[in-house]
Parts: sequence; structure tokens; C-alpha cells
Amino acid sequence: MLQSRLFPKTKKEAPAGEASVNARLLTRAGFIDKLMAGVHIFLPLGFRVLRKIESIIREEMEAAGGQELLMSALQPKENWQRTGRWETYDSLFRFVSFYTKTELALGPTHEEIISPLVAKANLSYKDLPLYLFQIQTKFRDEKRSKSGILRGREFIMKDFYSFHRDEKDMEDFYEKMKRHYMNIFEACGIGDKTYITFASGGTFSKYSHEFQTVTPYGEDTIYICPKCRVAVNKEIIEEQDSCPQCGNRDLKEEKAIEVGNIFPLKTKYSEPFDLKYTDEDGSKKDVIMGCYGIGLDRLMGTIVEVNHDEEGIIWPAGVAPFQAHLLLLGRDEKVRKYADEIYAFLQGTGIDVLYDERPDSSMGEKLKDADLIGIPWRLVASEKTFGENKIEVKRRDSEEAKLAAKDDLIKIIKG
Ligand code: ATP
Ligand code: MG
Repeated sequence: MLQSRLFPKTKKEAPAGEASVNARLLTRAGFIDKLMAGVHIFLPLGFRVLRKIESIIREEMEAAGGQELLMSALQPKENWQRTGRWETYDSLFRFVSFYTKTELALGPTHEEIISPLVAKANLSYKDLPLYLFQIQTKFRDEKRSKSGILRGREFIMKDFYSFHRDEKDMEDFYEKMKRHYMNIFEACGIGDKTYITFASGGTFSKYSHEFQTVTPYGEDTIYICPKCRVAVNKEIIEEQDSCPQCGNRDLKEEKAIEVGNIFPLKTKYSEPFDLKYTDEDGSKKDVIMGCYGIGLDRLMGTIVEVNHDEEGIIWPAGVAPFQAHLLLLGRDEKVRKYADEIYAFLQGTGIDVLYDERPDSSMGEKLKDADLIGIPWRLVASEKTFGENKIEVKRRDSEEAKLAAKDDLIKIIKG
């Protein structure tokens, strides 16, 4: 991609009133644009990152056995009345159709849709377990949508639902899902800061679990057990002031962002929707459910909260919008030709490159933009490197630059 064509240009200043790191950096660098409170547009750079995150999640959910489907954002009132949540779900967007006068909701989650969908299929014990998931836009009328893309009124969620014959089967799968979730956060470069956190299980279970990423500006507070590498959230510490795994009372308080959570639903939604299966003896039994969510925008914002410095974003390789950022410095015609060749060469080897060939930008501007945008490898072609028939190579997270021959670039970038 030629940077001269990239929409839009970077901004020197963050927009007034944006306090959070992710909003300031993602906006300045041209990844997102705020339309109104809690609603953002993903610009081309941001959309590239979003797609990377999406494919990491999709691959892992398929590895867990999930089949992907796509449910609707428009949902009928009746489904929400059936669970009692039409009245009690605080952040539910409700509205009336102008023509049909029917009342509708914009989906904040999909238990009310997927439970009757699966009930319709009249499953037998042979069809279970069943795993379904989607990656879809959710709507929540959040009281305060703040912190950039961490808490939106419109956001993208991966929601996964599991259906089982009995609680034991659900619990075994629930344990496996913890590993799949950690794989996702590791691939997104926040694994070492993300803790499986005990949270309240509601009326149906002792616990649910949140995946909390430690950062100074997190909205949540968690209490980490250094021995077990798990944490508990605020609700749990108030009930039991110790680690649920080892009983340790010496827990460390940290600020964190909830990037995902998993919940044993059991029969909470199967009962109201009469979601049953036919067992081996012909009897009808309640299907046991679990649900598993991750917010994609929140995950992207969290990655930035955790991986940045004074100058800009430092994208982990797995989610970076491009693998390499090639900068042409100076106005020398032969250097330009040389840089053009490097660009074509890298593209030919399947490396995603952003090529800053802008003729009207200064050396300082190009270097500053590279730090702001945060692509993992910076490659500089200048008169000096051309003289040695080399390219200067620097990692975004390192101070050290070295000269490399064209043929060595692939090995360096692909690691
Ligand atoms: P929170 O406690 O932060 O309000 P929640 O517990 O209501 O979130 P869930 O309903 O379990 O969240 O949603 C699953 C995941 O979706 C969350 O773990 C989070 O990653 C994401 N998420 C929830 N609400 C938002 C939001 N308003 N904006 C962005 N992502 C969100
Ligand atoms: Mg929560």
C-alpha cells in the first residue's frame, strides 16, 4: 500500500476531550474516527487490524468445534419478554417500528435468539454437544460510553454458545474454553498481562470467569493471586477475600480491562424457551448451556493500552495492520528507484508493506508517522543506505537499527 494514497492522513494532535490512550493514538494515527459518543468508524488501517483480530478469534473458535452463523441485530420484543429481560435489561435499545407499530430491540446479546433457534431443531442426544458462534455487531445503550473503543454503544462481539446433555459435559468444555481464550489473547500480544478472573456466576452457578488485562487505566479492579496466576474480581473479593484455588489471602490489587468472559448458563435460557433434547430412553431433558463472549473493539483498544510508548502504538506482530513500513527518505531519484524495487520485492514475497513514498513529506514527518502508526518493522531507504546497497532495519519496540541486505529482509521480518 502506498502511503500517499492512504485515507486519511495522520493528525498531529489528538481530538479535544479524548482522555484515553487508545482513543488518542488510534484517532491520531488514522485507525478510527468517532461519529458520536460510543460510536466509531473503523478506517482502512483500523479495519485491517480488526480483520486480523477477527481471524485469530475465528480460527480458535473453529478449533474449539464451533460452527459460525450470523444472527440478526433486529430482535422481536416477545423473545425478550419470555426471559423477563425486556423490562430488566438496562442497556437494551428498544424502539417502535414506524409502519407496523411493533416493538423491537437492537440486540445487545443473543441468548434470546439462539435458544429458540436451537429449540426448533428438536435435537436428540446424538446431536449434542453443539457449538455455535457468530461475530456480529451489538448495541447497548451504555450510560457512559467512554474510553475510546473500550465501551461502545455499538460494538462487535464474538458470542459463542455451547449446548450439552448434562452439567459435567458443559463443565469439561468450559474448562477447555479457558485455554482457547488464552490462546487468542496470546496471539493478540496481551497474554502475559491477561488473567483468568473469578466472577459471580449469577443465580445458576458459583462462578463465571472474566479475562482481565492489567493496565493502569482499566475500569475494573482485580485481585491477583501470584501463586496461581488467577485473579478474582471485586464481587468475589467482598465475599471471600482469598484465592478460590489455593486460599492465599495475599492478593495483589490491579486495574484491568475485561476483554472477554465465559458464563455457565445451565438452564437459564433453555427453560423459558423450552429448549430440550430427546435422551436415549426417549425422555425429554433440558439442554445445558454455556456462553462465551469477546469484544473485538474492546480487545483492539486494550492491545493499544498495553502496547504503546510516548511516540505511538507498538502493534504486536499478530495483529499489526502491515508487517513492514518502508520509508523513502530524501529526494534523490536513484534512491527512489531503489526503494521502489525493495517495495516490489517485499510484495513479491508476500510481505504486507506500507510504503511511505510521499514526495512532499519531510524526513522528520515520515519517522514520526512510522512511530505513531506502530508497524513492527521499520525499513529505511536513504542515500546513505543506498550507498552501501543496504536497507536500515529497526523494530518498533527497539532503539537499535542495523543495516541489512535486501535478501536478508524476508528472514528478519518473518522471524
Ligand atoms: P462490562 O462488564 O464491561 O459492561 P459485560 O460483562 O456486560 O461487560 P458481556 O455481556 O459478557 O459483557 O459481553 C461479552 C464481552 O463483550 C465483554 O467481555 C467485553 O469484551 C465486550 N463488551 C461488553 N460490553 C461492551 C461495550 N459496551 N463495548 C465494547 N465491548 C463490550
Ligand atoms: Mg462483565
